[in-house]
Amino acid sequence: MTEGKIIKISGPLVVAEGMREANMFDVVRVGEKKLIGEIIEMRSDKASIQVYEETAGLGRGDVVVSAMEPLSVELGPGLIGNIYDGIQRPLEEMVRLTGPNITKGVDIPPLNREKKWEFVATAKIGDEVTGGDIVGYVDESEVIRHKIMVPPGTSGRIEYLLSGSYSVTDKIGEIASSDGGKKELTLMQKWPVRRARPYKEKLSPEIPMITGQRVIDALFPIAMGGTACVPGPFGSGKTVVQHQLAKWSNVDLVVYIGCGERGNEMTDVLREFPEIKDPRTGKSLMQRTVLIANTSDMPVAAREASIYTGITIAEYFRDMGLSVAVIADSTSRWAEALREMSGRLEEMPGDEGYPAYLTSRLAGFYERAGQVKCIGSDGRWGSLTAIGAVSPQGGDISEPVSQATLRIVKVFWGLDSALAYSRHFPAINWLNSYSLYKDKLEGWYDENVSKKWSEDTAELLRILQKESELEEIVKLVGVDALSGDDRLTLEVARSIREDYLQQDAFNIEDSFTSLPKQFGIVDLILFFRDRAKEAMDTGADIQRISELPVREKIGRAKTVNDAEYKETYSAIKKEIVDSLSEITPR
Ligand code: ADP
Ligand code: MG
Repeated sequence: MTEGKIIKISGPLVVAEGMREANMFDVVRVGEKKLIGEIIEMRSDKASIQVYEETAGLGRGDVVVSAMEPLSVELGPGLIGNIYDGIQRPLEEMVRLTGPNITKGVDIPPLNREKKWEFVATAKIGDEVTGGDIVGYVDESEVIRHKIMVPPGTSGRIEYLLSGSYSVTDKIGEIASSDGGKKELTLMQKWPVRRARPYKEKLSPEIPMITGQRVIDALFPIAMGGTACVPGPFGSGKTVVQHQLAKWSNVDLVVYIGCGERGNEMTDVLREFPEIKDPRTGKSLMQRTVLIANTSDMPVAAREASIYTGITIAEYFRDMGLSVAVIADSTSRWAEALREMSGRLEEMPGDEGYPAYLTSRLAGFYERAGQVKCIGSDGRWGSLTAIGAVSPQGGDISEPVSQATLRIVKVFWGLDSALAYSRHFPAINWLNSYSLYKDKLEGWYDENVSKKWSEDTAELLRILQKESELEEIVKLVGVDALSGDDRLTLEVARSIREDYLQQDAFNIEDSFTSLPKQFGIVDLILFFRDRAKEAMDTGADIQRISELPVREKIGRAKTVNDAEYKETYSAIKKEIVDSLSEITPR
């Protein structure tokens, strides 16, 4: 422990002297109320401290105590279903103990100390183990088997290990290392949030994360272990996209970090998620979710920590061999916290006042994603997918946070205010969005969904691109000047946009679409296109084709339920053939 005294206070920044013994990123307690802070700069004996609670009431000369350990999270049973703030304080527990206006400096451990968990040992006494080896498990939720792992850096022989009912701090076993030391095992371990947890090897991702969001899965897919960003102006649907990904993605666990652009957003999550059933397990979504909420009454500085708290928890579950997604809404709020602290530290400002290290900090976050071979000797794999929303002022992505993010992530789902305005949701602009995983994932889709998947989805994009070229021409000379073929292209493009890409998050039949059904809709649209083309070649009129009533049925195909869609789509195909032949001259 080392103790110093405050010499300066500037908003969330406090400078203390007499801190020579302390280290960068140590956790400190500030003032009488023991506010929680973290050292973010050291100059001789002066420590600059980012304080995660309101600093009003602090004064010069107040005591600052360093715990001489870095800001860390507790990792163990009890994380799932919990709601934490940016420094992993359990929000519900705090509200229960201190009322809605959370008392400063409260010390409630992130993991409940009283609760007993049923631990089942799978390793045996005498086993030689190293960091990452699984010694047993706790069935934490109905869907997650929480593996208890030897902490990174520990190795030796298991001296004892006992199944039984334990709290997270009870001793469950002991490891004797070769150098003669002994290490106690508990259900819980700690890890410093700013340091990535180790892994053996990182491979480039090659399996898609299936989201059930048609524009994403078909046109701009993300891989398990990949990185993506969702930039867009206010109201363009970033939060809805992030919620959809958290709800429907086929990962084992989701860590959702909400920076709460709007007051009620986290409340929505808290209300909705427990009600929603995970389509794969049939259990409540909260059984596979950890929430980190930056409440509006916490200073912005806490947002800065929340990103690291979230990704460290995600890495821990990845280490168990699970697929995990971290979803952060929005990283712009995080970057603003970084900018504010940088300004108060009087650092040399970079672009738009953001510190020069903005890009490296952002990269440091996204680099913790990946598909990895976990530490431990069983050779298991885990993945961590990172998805961040970005909310540039006025939607202009030439600003520094968007630009830095785009240089790092591999998928760009660009939300467009014009699309949102015309109620085309999700407002992902198909002309400028991209996925650098698409080529790599095609093989998987072709093998697992349909061998025509990549060909057909590429065709969708081609038709949409052609549409945007034709629209330029139509603006100049009108639609009548177009050839029949081009008019058909416009009709089909409209069908792709309205019947496939548009997806209503709030309609239960539409909110999630399985891959076979997605392919079924694409197939219907292209089937119509091909048959219509044939009919036109033998003299059918494009105007009449475009007015066929069967087109409305194609439009409703996305909301046909899973049990009936195959039959319905076959019937629609038959109707396409029949109705086209009726209007084709013989
Ligand atoms: P942002 O986070 O970008 O400010 P939101 O995600 O809050 O925007 O979306 C704003 C509004 O747009 C939502 O409240 C909703 O009405 C509408 N919206 C967005 N996406 C969809 C969607 N997929 N389906 C239906 N409505 C949507
Ligand atoms: Mg939002």
